[in-house]
Amino acid sequence: MNTGTQAYKRIVIKLGTSLLTGGSDHLDKEIMSRLGSQVAAIHDDGAEVVIVTSGAVAAGRHCLKSNHSLKGVPLRQVLAAVGQARLMQTYEEIFDRHNITVAQALLTRADIADRSGYLNARNTFMSLMETGIVGIVNENDVVAVDELVESRFGDNDNLSAMVANLVDADLLVILTDIAGLFTADPHVHPEACLIHEVCNIDAAIDAMAGDSAGKLGTGGMSTKIEAARLATASGVTVIIADGRELEVITRLARGEAIGTRFIPAASKMESRARWMLAGLCTRGCLVVDDGAVTALTEQNKSLLPAGVKEVRGEWERGEIVDICTLNGARIATGITNYGSRDAFSLKGVHSGQITQQLGYDYGAEIIHRNNMVLIHRRADGTG
Ligand code: GLU
Repeated sequence: MNTGTQAYKRIVIKLGTSLLTGGSDHLDKEIMSRLGSQVAAIHDDGAEVVIVTSGAVAAGRHCLKSNHSLKGVPLRQVLAAVGQARLMQTYEEIFDRHNITVAQALLTRADIADRSGYLNARNTFMSLMETGIVGIVNENDVVAVDELVESRFGDNDNLSAMVANLVDADLLVILTDIAGLFTADPHVHPEACLIHEVCNIDAAIDAMAGDSAGKLGTGGMSTKIEAARLATASGVTVIIADGRELEVITRLARGEAIGTRFIPAASKMESRARWMLAGLCTRGCLVVDDGAVTALTEQNKSLLPAGVKEVRGEWERGEIVDICTLNGARIATGITNYGSRDAFSLKGVHSGQITQQLGYDYGAEIIHRNNMVLIHRRADGTG
């Protein structure tokens, strides 16, 4: 049923360990079922949802008890490996009841630091959402260890912001066991007040967040603020709220004000453009015919292989290239779905013939509209 009452179309929901365990030492299936029912309700109402979940380490710890001699990083990896399967099994059981298929995605920072990885992950999430599947993401703790700080998100708050950026979410909901951001730590200062809206994450906001972390999870309020900073800079609205609040997900999705809302600092397109153009040298150029110039500059279309006349330079899939007119004017820049060699073979080819031509297919577009920034909008492309 799609009654279209959602204020946000694409929503990333982060569920923290302390919420999923209800403060106990194991996953609380009742709490998880209630959260699952709410996700199912907004999904049925037309929202596209990705869940970023913690709880693998906690589930593993509960399962293994202390029947082992492991410590430190190896222990965490074992707990995550044991617990992740149980965590996913619980989600599967819950969403099966609502006839919703779920998919697991385990990510590390290194996976999406390079553009090709970013693009592959993005394409996967886009396809999952298109198919009505709810993606369930966690950090791949088995691979990303403490010694490799660069390769780790380190906490699922930052991971959720990255996922929100990756899928161009409208809203990132970070659910925890506290009502939002307070003027001071409410556990210590009962007179602390909830902040309802933050337009600018400045030093005063950082100071309010402090550095308290939950008992079982790794993130405290400060990592949530870091995540809010990252996501709002990508044009995503962020809400930190108490996941135990009645029907919190369905109410937030309808636009109700609960918890602390962080207002986006940029439009999504602007941030995407900045990300694509930031300090990058492009690897080459696709020269396109006049029809493609019109399609790109006037009709907001993607670049299809049929419009490509020439391929200049060498690049891999996922790298950034320019799009130029026949007389050499640069009209756009974008992330390519095909490496230069493939692009060369696809010159002038109809999108329906890609598999026949290459033996595989990364999509109908050489550069998808969502991954493209126009530089000149002039219709004749001579800009
Ligand atoms: N990836 C960890 C887990 O699933 C959680 C990290 C966090 O709580 O931020 O247990």
